Amino acid sequence: MKENKKVMKMENITLKGKVIISGVIELLTGLHIGGLKETLKIGGTDDPVIKDAFGRIYIPGSSLKGKIRCLLEKSMGKGKVKVVIKVKKEIKEGDKSRYEVKEDKEETYELKDFNTDIVDKLIEEYKSKGYTEDKGYSIESHITALPCSCGDCVICKIFGPHDSKKIEEPRRVVFRDAYLVKEINDNEKNRNNSNNEVIEIGEKKYKILDENDEELNEYLEIKPENIIDRVKGVAQHPRFIERVSAGAKFYFEIVFNVYKKEDKELLKELITGMKLLEDDYLGGSGSRGYGKIKFENLKIVNRPKEYYEGNEKAEKVTDVKDLDELKNLNKLEEKIKEIWNY
Ligand SMILES: [Zn+2]
Repeated sequence: MKENKKVMKMENITLKGKVIISGVIELLTGLHIGGLKETLKIGGTDDPVIKDAFGRIYIPGSSLKGKIRCLLEKSMGKGKVKVVIKVKKEIKEGDKSRYEVKEDKEETYELKDFNTDIVDKLIEEYKSKGYTEDKGYSIESHITALPCSCGDCVICKIFGPHDSKKIEEPRRVVFRDAYLVKEINDNEKNRNNSNNEVIEIGEKKYKILDENDEELNEYLEIKPENIIDRVKGVAQHPRFIERVSAGAKFYFEIVFNVYKKEDKELLKELITGMKLLEDDYLGGSGSRGYGKIKFENLKIVNRPKEYYEGNEKAEKVTDVKDLDELKNLNKLEEKIKEIWNY
């Protein structure tokens, strides 16, 4: 019976239109999103940034989507947290030593009920059982956030439930990969005889850089990082991390599918998630200051069903300088109202 009900619900939902949010992501600090390890042999860095087959540097749509989803879930107390505790014992074999897992435990909590005291308490429990450092034991803890999979909340409606069996309504958003671009002026545009795609947003024009563009290297930097040996105070294992340098710009596009009149609220939540990302970080090593970003030169376009049926005039566009412009909820409401006609 329940299955039937679900099918009915999906059938009642038809696409009313698409709202496309596009613009530029500017890097305020260097960004590292790891690419394939195989590049190591060619690139000569231990951890290169991700590039496609044409040598174009990009931020995968899935990274952007995952990060925004995670930040919204945190802010709403949605989702779950998985805690894994491992008790290990050091076993010495000659000059080498290895670790053997003696006990492990996995527990899942609702994000709203979780705090790190829970982990400390679990560790203390093991210590009181005699698994102490002086006896050669070490206790490791791993905390992983699990996305919501209820199928019915704001998060699941926007991003889709984590568990696809729980789909109640079609997922609203599609995040396209965001490519590294360079802002160009009109002269450069005419001179641009390469096949690079030119993107126009408002007054500004950008071209996507690929491996044939020498400028591409201007945006890459190799940053050595060391792990300091706490006892000897010397640098060990220097690693070479490739980063896209601060100031680089990426063209992004998010497609929001409109199924219901009330989806306006979901669109507002999505934009709130983008604001949360600006105060967080993208990619790896955020705690070391990587990946601070800013959305700017945004264009929000609404294309209702009639647009796709041939009525080009049905399209509505509004420009937004940056997300600071939408900080105020009334202003956000006002901007969306300019294009929303459902
Ligand atoms: Zn949910």
